[in-house]
Amino acid sequence: MIADRLKARIREQGPLSIANFMTEALFDPVEGFYATKDPIGAGSDFITAPEISQIFGELVGLFVLQSWVDLGRPDQVRLIELGPGRGTMMSDVLRTARALPGFLDSARITLIEASAALKSVQAQTLGPSGAQIGWADRLEAVAPGPSIILGNEFLDCLPLRQAIRHRGNWHERMVALGDDNEFVFALGPDLGPDTDLIPPRLRDLPDGQLAEFRPGDLQVVEALAARFKDAPGRALFIDYGPATSEAGDTLQAIRAHEKVEVLDEPGTADLTARVNFEALSAAARAQGLDSQGPLGQGAFLNRMGLEARAAALSQSAPEKRALIARQVFRLTDPDQMGDLFKAIALQSPGLPAPPAFSAD
Ligand code: SAH
Repeated sequence: MIADRLKARIREQGPLSIANFMTEALFDPVEGFYATKDPIGAGSDFITAPEISQIFGELVGLFVLQSWVDLGRPDQVRLIELGPGRGTMMSDVLRTARALPGFLDSARITLIEASAALKSVQAQTLGPSGAQIGWADRLEAVAPGPSIILGNEFLDCLPLRQAIRHRGNWHERMVALGDDNEFVFALGPDLGPDTDLIPPRLRDLPDGQLAEFRPGDLQVVEALAARFKDAPGRALFIDYGPATSEAGDTLQAIRAHEKVEVLDEPGTADLTARVNFEALSAAARAQGLDSQGPLGQGAFLNRMGLEARAAALSQSAPEKRALIARQVFRLTDPDQMGDLFKAIALQSPGLPAPPAFSAD
């Protein structure tokens, strides 16, 4: 079991950072949560927007088409998805993309996926699309060229670090072992120069407060910036989290659609934490990218034409009218996913504002 191995490691080498604990629990190649199974969907552990309604991926598809036009309809465009899950969103994107002649001939599709189990689900989902699809381990490995990059609920599962203010200094929050050999949170070493990684808005919080920062997000931004220096591109991320940095612990574990203890049975629950859109945007700008948004998921989908698409679907399948209305409600209502989930676009400087973001 992962738990036993992590405990042995802590006994030998000392406490683990939250980021290390998270990486092992999610991505251990044999026993990690994502490595072993397909956790997404109604009968599994959690559900995501593309699995709620096909309209989500279709509207992202329209975003992709407009982005290709904004990039000048290049002969070859890399359409890259980070963390494609079951491949559902890409399948809806590709179906929608047939609407614009030329796009599918231009598109070279690359999926970036850490989980072997999900890779095979993606191959199955996307086989019937007839599109040529490849996989890569990381963004840096994708051949250069103009690109459109998508990530839905990808950033939230990248490893994050947590720090606690103690006697005026920031200390790493760690996972250690308690008296009964159980995992417990513990105060680790002073962050030292890494204190600069704490969002500026949180740096002066008083003793006892907790701040999160997300080195995984920064790596993604750096990879985007490097890619877009070479050839223009646009990335769209949709995820959950606040528009401005907030104090507090947001790490959560979900198993079978229920919140469970974060340190309980690593590898058997999804671990995610809120994305900090302010920090993401600041990091992108510091790398010379243009950052647009964030925009609530509800506003994003509405501006992309959700209502018209829902009406058309309801008209062609009247027996599904109530179901479609419930799905739309779930995706857009401010008390459901509409506000907490946000869309942000990071792109090469000089491109027009992305669709849906231009009204800001
Ligand atoms: N986008 C999908 C899945 C979201 S779950 C949806 O909306 O349904 C997160 C996805 O990101 C999973 O496919 C997971 O395996 C993948 N993932 C997480 N971290 C990753 C990493 N560092 N590299 C590649 N894939 C990763």
